[in-house]
This record gives sequence, structure tokens and C-alpha cells, in this order.
Amino acid sequence: MSILTAVPSHAEEWKEIKDKHFVVYYGSAMSSEEAGRLLRQAEKYYDLIARQIGYARYSNFWTWEERVKIIIYDDQAAFMAKTGQPAWSKGYADRHPKLFESKMIVTYRQEQEFFNGLLPHEISHLILHDFLGPQTSVPLWFDEGVAQLQEAEKRAVADRLLQRLVLEKKQLPLPVLMELDIRREKNSTKVTLFYVQSLSVIDFLLTQYGSDAFARLCRQMRDGKSFAEALRLAYGHSFDSVQQLEDKWINSFRN
Ligand SMILES: [Zn+2]
Repeated sequence: MSILTAVPSHAEEWKEIKDKHFVVYYGSAMSSEEAGRLLRQAEKYYDLIARQIGYARYSNFWTWEERVKIIIYDDQAAFMAKTGQPAWSKGYADRHPKLFESKMIVTYRQEQEFFNGLLPHEISHLILHDFLGPQTSVPLWFDEGVAQLQEAEKRAVADRLLQRLVLEKKQLPLPVLMELDIRREKNSTKVTLFYVQSLSVIDFLLTQYGSDAFARLCRQMRDGKSFAEALRLAYGHSFDSVQQLEDKWINSFRN
């Protein structure tokens, strides 16, 4: 089924509510209060993430007709029927080139976990891809690391888990993490490790060196540099290789 059939048509009964960067389309299962709460959350996450990764100062063109569309189906059955998504899928902006281009988050009405998890996750992906530009193929670990930054409690969980894994020397070497294609990985321990470690390395860069350096890193990647080159150029005084990043990241658990 074409992704474009996910877009609400005028024949269906959709209500809409919009603010500066987002427009929410919702069906009859959602109250206008709930839609309003969703919209406020989305705007809040936009501000937090844009500031955190240093995007805010460079770009602000998610407004007016460029607003991101958040499409909320009434339930999972309607979502699956319209989008052709499998039952395990809770929604996507994730890695769908058409959706990144058209700036859409398509999902269905869900409980609280949506507000704390999927919503900030997908908004972060969209901001990052906007920041790096459509021509940049974003490394998977980098993409997923950034996407998890605003997911409630994820950082604390990643920290606790890695604290132990690093002591036992069970973390993935960074060059392995950076090459892992998680979409083909069948080992669930490795999948978990991929997500927590991606988040931890991104979090380390941001908390230790700040948003400005991170924004420089993104700009270099946008200009076509590999992560390793971009790292050297953006953080020259701190690391000149992925190995040095790995050493300092590991050391951060020994304090
Ligand atoms: Zn993701």
C-alpha cells in the first residue's frame, strides 16, 4: 500500500489543530483536549531537542505550510488498514524516506507511553534529518542515539546498564557499534546494547562538550564528511579519532 494513502483525505472526518511547528490531524476517538495536549507536548519537545543538539540557531523553517503533520488514527486496526504497517509497528517517521521528505508522523491513539516515547523519538529523528539535510545518509547509531535523548528515563537506564557492562568489558567497540546494521540483527542482546550504547555516546558528547560542538559536528556531516572526519573537525582539541572518543567515553564510567 502506498505511504501516501496514510494522508487523511477530505472525504474522511478529520479534525485538525495547529501551532507553530506542528499540525495534528485526529479522528473521532480523540477529544479536542487530548489533541491539544498532544500538540503542546510536540511543541515542547521541538524546543527541547532543537536547543539540545544546537539546531535551534540554524533553522526555524518548520512553520506555516512546512509544519510537521502528526496523523493520529483512531485505533491500531484503522492505522494498519490505511498504512499497511504490521501489527508490531506503533507508528513511524522512522527511516521512511517519503515520510522524512513530507515531514509526517503517522500513528494511532495510544496511552501515555506514546507521549514519553514515540513522540519525542520521532520528532528527534525529523529534526536531525532536517539538520543534516536530505543528501546525508545518517549513520544508524547516530540517528538512534539522538532519537532517544528525550525519551523519559532512557538515559538513566542506559547509564546503569553500561556502568556494569563497561566494568565487565562487555560493551561493543565503537567501530563495531558504528557499523552495525541493526535492521538485520537477530541477536536481541546486541540490539539492546546497540540502542543503549548509541544513546550513551551521544549523551556523553552533549553533556561533556555542549550543544555548540555537537552542532558543528552535525554541520560537518551535512557538508559530506564522515562521522570520523566530522568528529576531528568539530572536536579537534578533544579527540582526533574515534578511538580517543571511545577511550574518553569509557573513562567517564570510571569516575
Ligand atoms: Zn528510531
